[in-house]
Amino acid sequence: MSLKKIIIHPDPRLKKVCDEVDGISPELRKLATDMLETMYDAPGIGLAAPQVGVMERLFVMDVAEKESAPEPRVLINPRLTWQSDEVNVHEEGCLSIPGIYEDVSRPSSVRMAFQNLDGVEIEEEFAGIAATCVQHELDHLNGKLFVDYLSGIKRRMITAKMKKLKKEQAREE
Ligand code: ZN
Repeated sequence: MSLKKIIIHPDPRLKKVCDEVDGISPELRKLATDMLETMYDAPGIGLAAPQVGVMERLFVMDVAEKESAPEPRVLINPRLTWQSDEVNVHEEGCLSIPGIYEDVSRPSSVRMAFQNLDGVEIEEEFAGIAATCVQHELDHLNGKLFVDYLSGIKRRMITAKMKKLKKEQAREE
């Protein structure tokens, strides 16, 4: 296992539509393990492949309560098959936009079809924080960030802040 470097916004790789995963290879399993480790280390509850520079359609997540046992998940080639009319507002953050938390409104429940690491096709309904998480991560695979839901002025302020952060990080390296 090894930690991956998380790409910070703005970066062209975070704006691209990712490619379908074509079969479950040992490399893909290793990538999923590394992504989970990177996510737990950050720490975060979700991480999509483009955030570590891999332009493929998969993400990992774990929305288990802090006190309970970990529930690592890997979703490959996920797609929405249903979404509720009811919407929910959740405060969202993103490992590619560190330190920023903003309210985002999304469908409160969704169904998603995906493959797991055994290549098994699964359809599952997500609600609550899991629904927010899977929609946020699916957006990453389509080159969309949670700040894209905010007003232009807010987004520009956050982007400027992240540019400054990246400059500071580059100086430290
Ligand atoms: Zn994110």
